[in-house]
Amino acid sequence: MISRDKTYLPKWIAIEITRKCNLKCIHCRSASTIDSESGIWNLEKIEKLFEDISSLSKPTIVLTGGEPLLHEEVFDMIKAGNKKGFRMCLATNGTLINEEIAKKLKDLDIKMVSLSIDGSTPEIHDNFRQQKGAFEGVMRAIEILKKYEIPFLINSSFTKRNAFDIPNVYKLMKKIKPVAWYMFLILPVGRGDEAEKELLSSKEAEEWLKWHFAIETVTDEFLVRPTCAPQYYRICEEEAKKLGLDYSRRNLTLGTGGAKGCVAGQYICFIDAFGGLRPCSYWPESIDNVFEKSFVDIWTKNPLLLALRDKNAYKGKCRDCKYFEVCSGCRVRAYAKYKDYLAEDPYCFYNPYKDNT
Ligand code: SF4
Ligand code: SF4
Repeated sequence: MISRDKTYLPKWIAIEITRKCNLKCIHCRSASTIDSESGIWNLEKIEKLFEDISSLSKPTIVLTGGEPLLHEEVFDMIKAGNKKGFRMCLATNGTLINEEIAKKLKDLDIKMVSLSIDGSTPEIHDNFRQQKGAFEGVMRAIEILKKYEIPFLINSSFTKRNAFDIPNVYKLMKKIKPVAWYMFLILPVGRGDEAEKELLSSKEAEEWLKWHFAIETVTDEFLVRPTCAPQYYRICEEEAKKLGLDYSRRNLTLGTGGAKGCVAGQYICFIDAFGGLRPCSYWPESIDNVFEKSFVDIWTKNPLLLALRDKNAYKGKCRDCKYFEVCSGCRVRAYAKYKDYLAEDPYCFYNPYKDNT
């Protein structure tokens, strides 16, 4: 039984403080819209949760949504997290950020604001976000955040629809200079389900991840890391060996360390608008509820969380893979294909049974 084993303390927790959103992006994990039910989080409930979490660790807390700026108590929630010594961050679509909000965020010493840019031009980004003016909105938000010297990172999501634009988005990052740029190849969840036919194939993903390795070795101005592509760590080792490079991964201090592929339920989790706890933000269903049990109880006793921390519980080629310790495969993709979170990752190109190296 894993109890308060130091190696599995939470380092990063995202909380969906509202499911309402003013945009309607095709790939949204929670399929949020302005008509979505908000959820049941309020300041009192968040304070109780923070008290519970703080008895385990002092993680990075990301207030997310929906659009978290639509929650009227969002600033008080940031204040409550600060009091506990958490590193408070905000994941927003950026369209609501104005001078007044930026000033409040600065005064609250927000540690990071994450924004999304899914195309290098208004046409590509707005098409992806299904909102005319979204690109202009996020660029305006960036200008304001820069003015107030608030650190921000950029997430970029890709499918077949916009993957051709990945190198241009990277070039745009060189101009914008965020703290970090995270490339995300979309998973089959949320509104992503409907858009499944648009998802990149595993072969296409492998090529883009190799491309990413190449740019990572020459990018010093900001941190880069593909989100939720655990096999990237296998690709890094393979490519570095092929090219004779001494490659060491760089860490993002605000995140989960950047040293390992999938860390769902090991170092990170997601708590939804109704208190449902999920091992990561893309997990399709809640596995426990923080309004029914304490966070500490769930984190230390939930059988699925314990299984995710136990290599012997995994199945198929992931369990038998020499890269398991750095990768361990995407559990959400395994579930989407096999209805088993511990099955092998169907999105990975590698076959450990044919590897003679
Ligand atoms: S087989 Fe599984 S553990 Fe191995 S590299 Fe692929 S996804 Fe990762
Ligand atoms: S299960 Fe997949 S989506 Fe979730 S953290 Fe792991 S790699 Fe990311």
